[in-house]
Amino acid sequence: KPPITVRALAEKLNQKAFKIIADLMDLGVFANVNQTMDPDCARAICAKYGYRFELEKRERHAQVPAAPPRKKAELDPTDRPEDLRPRPPVVTVMGHVDHGKTTLLDAIRKSNVAAKEVGGITQHIGAYTISFPHPERKGELAQITFLDTPGHAAFSAMRARGANVTDIVVLVVAADDGVMPQTIEALNHARAAGVPIIVAINKMDHPAANPLKVRQQLQEQGLIPDDWGGDTIFVELSALTKKGVDKLLEMILLQADLLELKANPNRPAVGNIIESGISPGGPTVTALVRKGTLRVGDALLCGPYYGKVRALINEDGERLKEAGPSVAVKVLGLNGVPEPGSEFTVVEDERKAREIAEQRQEALRTRAAETRAKVTLENLFQVL
Ligand code: GDP
Ligand code: MG
Repeated sequence: KPPITVRALAEKLNQKAFKIIADLMDLGVFANVNQTMDPDCARAICAKYGYRFELEKRERHAQVPAAPPRKKAELDPTDRPEDLRPRPPVVTVMGHVDHGKTTLLDAIRKSNVAAKEVGGITQHIGAYTISFPHPERKGELAQITFLDTPGHAAFSAMRARGANVTDIVVLVVAADDGVMPQTIEALNHARAAGVPIIVAINKMDHPAANPLKVRQQLQEQGLIPDDWGGDTIFVELSALTKKGVDKLLEMILLQADLLELKANPNRPAVGNIIESGISPGGPTVTALVRKGTLRVGDALLCGPYYGKVRALINEDGERLKEAGPSVAVKVLGLNGVPEPGSEFTVVEDERKAREIAEQRQEALRTRAAETRAKVTLENLFQVL
C-alpha cells in the first residue's frame, strides 16, 4: 500500500489539512497536502488526535521478531531508472554502552575522537564519509558514510522527523560482556527501521572473549549468523588492535551490494541535516546528501532557513567543490540553525529559497501565536 498523504490522513482524522501540515511542522517536516509522510510522523499525529496508526499487516512473531527485510533501495519516482547510479551505504553504529562504538568509529576514522569526548560519552551525532581502495574491484574507490549516534533515542528521533537515512546498522557487541539490554534495544530500533544488521563482535583481544556465546544469545533474538545457515553477517574484531576492522568494511560493502543502493547524482541535491550548530563563521551544519549533488554556490533551503552554500568541508577539514549522494559534509552558508533530521533541498536561486523560507517562518509564527492564544484561553477557563 502506498504511504498516506497529508490530505488522506486529515480526512481520516476529520481535521483540516492545514492543521496536519502544522503538526508536521512541529515534527520538523514541511509538506503540502498532496505529499506523503513517514509512518512515524503519521503515528505521532494520529496519537495526538487520539487515534492509533497501524501499518498494513506484516509477518510478526510473538517472541522472535521477524528478520529485517532486505528491501531494495526506495527509488524516487521522479528519477528515471537510467539516471540512477550506485551510491555508498550510510551506516549507523549501535550497541550497548562501553561495548566499543566510539573506539570502532575511531579506528575506522583513524582520528582520535574517543579521547576528546568529555567523560567518554559521545557528545553529538557526527557523520563522515570514508574513501578507500575497493577491496575487490581493482582501481575503484569504495566509500562508506558513518553516522555516530549519541544514543538510540537520537536514531528514533531522526526517524520520527522522517529522516530514515540509515541503510545498514552495525550492531556492536563486546565479546566479553555479551548481549546486554541496550543491545536488544538497538536491535529493535534497527528492526523498526527495516534496516539490515551486521553484527560486530568486538573486543576479541579480551581474555574473556566468548564469541560463541554472543552468537547463541543473538540467535535467541532471531539474528541467525550466516555461518549457521542464517542471513546475518557476523564479524569478529578488535576496535582496539584494529584486527578485523578491514573485514567489517568489506562486509558492509558486500551488504551494500545486496541492497543495490542507487541515486541520481545529476539533479539538485536533497538530503538531511545530521547535526547543526553555530561556529565563528555562522551557522554550520553537517549535511547528508540523499540524492543529487550539492555544490558550492547552490541556493539552499532548509526548514525555515535559507542561504547560499559558501563552503563544503569534509571530515579532514578539506574544502570540497561538491558532494554527491550518501556523502556527509559540513556546510556553511545557512542563515539559521535547523533541527537535526530536517530536510534540505537545493532550489533555483537564492531569491526563491528566501521566499519559501520566509513563508515558512510566517507559518511558524502563526502557529506559535495560535498556541499562545489557546493557552491563554485555557488559563481563562481555569480562572472561571
Ligand atoms: P562506547 O560506549 O560503545 O562508545 O564504547 P567506547 O568506544 O567508549 O569503549 C568503551 C571501553 O572499551 C573503552 O575503555 C575502550 O578502550 C574499550 N574497548 C573498546 N574496544 C575495545 C577492544 O576491541 N578491546 C578491548 N580490550 N577494549 C576495547
Ligand atoms: Mg561512545
